Amino acid sequence: MQQLSGNQSILSFLPPISVLNTGAVDINLADSAKVPLANIDSEPVGENIAPDDPALSVPKDDLDKQLIEDRVVQHNHTVSSGESLSSIFSQYGLSNSELYDLTKAYPAVAELRVGQNLNWTLDKKGELESLTIQRDRKTKDVYTFTNGKINHEQDIAKGEFRPVIIAGRVTSSFYQQARSAGLTPNQIQTLVKALQWRFDLGRQARKGDKFAVELSREYIDGDPVGSGDVQSLLYQSGNDQIFIHRNKDGKFYDADGHSLQRAFNRLPTAKRYRISSSFNPHRHHPITGRIAPHNGTDFAVPLGTAVLATGDGVVVKAQHHRLAGNFVVIKHGREYITRYLHLSKILVKPGQHVKMGQKIALSGNTGRSTGPHLHYEIHKNNRPVNPMTVSLPQASPVPRSQLNAYEAEALASKKRLATDLNS
Ligand SMILES: [Zn+2]
Repeated sequence: MQQLSGNQSILSFLPPISVLNTGAVDINLADSAKVPLANIDSEPVGENIAPDDPALSVPKDDLDKQLIEDRVVQHNHTVSSGESLSSIFSQYGLSNSELYDLTKAYPAVAELRVGQNLNWTLDKKGELESLTIQRDRKTKDVYTFTNGKINHEQDIAKGEFRPVIIAGRVTSSFYQQARSAGLTPNQIQTLVKALQWRFDLGRQARKGDKFAVELSREYIDGDPVGSGDVQSLLYQSGNDQIFIHRNKDGKFYDADGHSLQRAFNRLPTAKRYRISSSFNPHRHHPITGRIAPHNGTDFAVPLGTAVLATGDGVVVKAQHHRLAGNFVVIKHGREYITRYLHLSKILVKPGQHVKMGQKIALSGNTGRSTGPHLHYEIHKNNRPVNPMTVSLPQASPVPRSQLNAYEAEALASKKRLATDLNS
C-alpha cells in the first residue's frame, strides 16, 4: 500500500511528487485492460474502479434516467459551518488549478457563508464548465470556464417574492405529472432529494397520489421572473400524508422541524485505522504519467476486521469481482452509494436493508490486492467524493432559536397547500 507524501491541502497547489511504495499494492481496473496483469502488482497505482464500471455500478431507475435526460445539474453543495471554497473543491475532487485560477481572477468568489448553495457542471473530462453560487435569495454569481478563460456574471433579483402553488395528481409517474403541472426538472429534483429518505418519488409514487407544491417566485411589475424556489410540499399517497418545508437555513424539515436526512458515520469500521492510501482523483501514475485516480480511501485493517455500513440503505451488490475481490455496494437514498472492497467474507445479500453501523462483511485481501486492507468509497450523484472530508448528511433538527418561527411558517404553508390538494 502506498501513502501519498505530504498532505493533500488544496492550497499547496503542488502535483503529487512521489509515492512511497510500502509493500501492498492496489490494482487499477481501468488500466488492467491495457497492461498485462503480471505488471500490475509491481506498479504502485491505486484501484481505479470507474464509477460506471458495470460490474460494480448501481442500475439507474426511470427517474434517474429522466433527470439525466433533462440535464438537471447533479452537482451541488450547501455550505455548512467550517467549510471553505477550497475544502469543498477538495471533497468533490475538483481540480486545484481551476480553484487557483478562479480565486486569482475573482478573489471574492471564496467569500462563502453558511447556507449558500453551490452548483456546478463538468465537461466530459471532469473539468469545470460553470459554477453558480447562490449568495442569498436575490444574488447569484455565475462563473463560466471556456478555453482557460473564466467569465463572471452577477444576477441580482430586483422584484418581490410571492408564493405560488402548483398542484396535481399522479396518473403515470410523479415526474410526468409534476412536469405537466408546471414544475421544472430542477424543482422536481429538489423535491426528490428532500424527500429521499421518507418517500421515494421514483419508486413509491402511485396512480391517484396527490401533491401540492409551494414555490417562492420573483415578480417584477407584476410579471413572474424565473421559475422560483421550492418552499413546501404536501404529498398524499393513500393514507400516508407527507409535509416538508424549507427553513431559512436552506434545508427541508417536517412540520415539527425534524430533519428529513439520515446521518452517516465517517468510518466503515468501529475504530480508526491508519489510512494507507488517500482519495486522489488527480493522482498521476508514477511511471506512465497518466491520471490514475484513487477513488476511495484505503485503511490498513487486519484480516477479519468487522466492516460496518456507514449509513442506512439497501444492498445492491454483494459478490466477487476478479479485481475488486469480494465487494459490497450499498445505495443510501437517491444521492449516495458506498462501496467496500477486498473483503474476506460477505454477510449481506442484494436487496437487504441495512442500518448505519451494521456489520456487513469481514475485511480481507481478496481480488488484486497484495496486503490486507479495506478500500472504501462514497459516490455522491454518481461521482466519487473524498470519504474522509465530504460533508455527510446530518440529521439535526431546526436550530432551537429558529424553531418557533419555523413552525408558524410551516403551519401557514401547510394550510395553503391543503386547500389546493383537496380542491
Ligand atoms: Zn484503494
